[in-house]
Parts: sequence; structure tokens; C-alpha cells
Amino acid sequence: MYIDPHIHMVSRTTDDYQRMALAGCVAITEPAFWAGYDRGSAQGFVDYFRLLTDTEPKRAAQFGIRHHTWLCINPKESEDIGLAREVLAEIPKFLDRPSVLGIGEIGLNKNSRNELVVLEEHIALAHSRGLLILVHTPHLEDKLKGTRLIMDAIAAQGVDPSRVLIDHVEEHTVRPVLDRGFWAGMTLYPDTKCTPQRAADIFEMHGTERLWINSAADWGVSDPLAVPKCRDEMRRRGHLDAIIKRVSFDNPKAFLSQSGRFSVK
Ligand SMILES: [Zn+2]
Repeated sequence: MYIDPHIHMVSRTTDDYQRMALAGCVAITEPAFWAGYDRGSAQGFVDYFRLLTDTEPKRAAQFGIRHHTWLCINPKESEDIGLAREVLAEIPKFLDRPSVLGIGEIGLNKNSRNELVVLEEHIALAHSRGLLILVHTPHLEDKLKGTRLIMDAIAAQGVDPSRVLIDHVEEHTVRPVLDRGFWAGMTLYPDTKCTPQRAADIFEMHGTERLWINSAADWGVSDPLAVPKCRDEMRRRGHLDAIIKRVSFDNPKAFLSQSGRFSVK
């Protein structure tokens, strides 16, 4: 039994739900993200939010998987501040839907000035409504700088770090994130971000407190079964079942339950 706390099912087939259920997946959370193309209007996001809050929970339920979501305009499409503000104005209309856990995945992509402005406005929205936050951190060379900028922006508004998950951490960012009191997520990709082997190494070096794993499977090269594969890797290395359950079930459940909306059988 496991939870995949970050996966983009709008980009996946129903067969993937079926295979995940067979592998033991009981609950997922799906952050709003870049869909592989820039949407032309705020209405494009409204339709996307309907998909996330209405269509996907029903599709997941057919296979006994609980589906939850996070809403935002992602950093990649935040360069146009006018569009971003139109989308931000639509988000509150969806926040009372029962499967919405909070604001995400917000963050930075190229660490630009406009991205930072839109990030700050999302943080303010989450803070004013007492919502959890899920953070996307930039890729490769921008990651460490971007992660610091994001943590500073969150701290500047007085948000409790124990209600924020910083995702896509790697070897060089996991420690600064945990040391400041945030939760950290490791994304298991076949080649970039963390492989299951690198994630297992990071658990061995940094422990399992406030740390989880996810597949972040989307429309690109990614694997919706990455979490059970990492569990297998840890089992092969002789880790105890309790430790494996902690990182793939107990930890995500503990963080997500702070929303008051997360449910798992
Ligand atoms: Zn994502």
C-alpha cells in the first residue's frame, strides 16, 4: 500500500490508474502544472481546474484510488503577470471543493522577476486561507539558487514551514530545505532528478524525517510506477518494512492530513 503524492494524471491513460492500483497505490495528489503548451487564456485554466477537481477524482475512484489536487498557475506560465492575475482571481472559486488540498505546484522556473511576483501572490493567497503549499523547484543549475529564493519568499510572509513541501529536492538541496523546517519531496525520474537508487542513497544519508518520494509522472519521460520501484530498491538494500512504509505512506499521509481534506482508506 502506498501514496504517490505528486503525479499528473491528466497526462496519463486509464491503464496507468489500473497498473498503479495493482501495484498498491491507494491515494494520489495532483498539483496544477504546465501541460506541455502555454494556455491561451484564463478560461483554459478554469477548464483545467474542472478537470482536476471533477473528472480525475471520478476516474481514479474506478480503481479504488483517492484523488486530491492543488491549484495555481505554474511558474512557467507566470511570465505574463496579467494572465497570471486573471487565473489567480479564478482559483478561490474552486478552493472549497472537497478534494483541494492547497496551492501548488508554485515556485520558480527561470528564477525571473515576474515569476517571483506571481509566486509571492500565491503564497499570500495560501497564507490568507490557511492552505498547505506544494513547491516546484527549478531544474539543474538554477535549482539551489531558486530553492533559496523560494524559501526566503515563504519565510518573508510568516508561513509555517511545516505546512510547506518543497519538491524535486536533490543531493545538494535536501539539507538546506530540511534544516529550515520544511518538508522535502524527491522526484523519481528514469534519468533526470532522482532515480530510485539516488533516492535510497539520500534516505541513507539524511534519514526519513519530513521526506517523501513521488513519481511526478506527466506527459514527458517519466514512470507512474516509480514509487513502488523505489520501495523495491529499498527492500533489496535490506531496509525494514516500517522504514519503507514511512517514506511511501506514513510521511505523505502526515503532511497531507494537515489540510483536513486528505483521506485514504
Ligand atoms: Zn509536477
